[in-house]
Amino acid sequence: MLSIVTFILGPLMTNGYLIADPETGDAAVIDPADKGRTIVAEALKYGWHIGNIWLTHAHFDHIAGAGGVADRLSPPPPVALHPDDHPLWRMQGGAILFGVRIDPGPEPSVDLKHGMLLHLGNNVLEVRHAPGHTRGHVIFYCASEKVAFCGDVIFQGSIGRTDMPGGDYETLIQSIREQVLTLPDETRLLSGHGPETTVGQERRYNPFLT
Ligand SMILES: [Zn+2]
Ligand SMILES: [Zn+2]
Repeated sequence: MLSIVTFILGPLMTNGYLIADPETGDAAVIDPADKGRTIVAEALKYGWHIGNIWLTHAHFDHIAGAGGVADRLSPPPPVALHPDDHPLWRMQGGAILFGVRIDPGPEPSVDLKHGMLLHLGNNVLEVRHAPGHTRGHVIFYCASEKVAFCGDVIFQGSIGRTDMPGGDYETLIQSIREQVLTLPDETRLLSGHGPETTVGQERRYNPFLT
């Protein structure tokens, strides 16, 4: 079983997710967008232990709370990121372009690779490399729970922007076709911004894909 708590955080209203296996108490943060203190407090409330920080990509609005999470946990949880997004992470995820400064926390120490399996209690999440919004963007897919955390690859009725460094429209569309639309229609898509949707809904109604 997978419990999911959604936070809407930061200047770009980014969705961050605290996920856990409630039976074992093992928890992870996907995209600590801001306010690490709030995320850690929520985990404590349930008695969950945050053992990992998993990043879909390194844009500043998805990592700005990582320092705050790590500061409050001992030992600080390892941060996992696809290597192709490490240069972006070192530039603070482009924060400077938006005129902000962030504390991205500890340097990522786990390299995410396509096809890698991540364990959270009794749950398994599959890493799917989906470049196009950034070079190292990944999706975390939990088949048993029929849910995918897809960051800024696809949104309800829209797709990620491709006009920033590392972005490429054709690559993004190909990633969506190969890494998202190949999932079962009933799969919930939890995006980096906006409401959740499903693979079937986007397959039928997303104007960028029809
Ligand atoms: Zn992004
Ligand atoms: Zn974003």
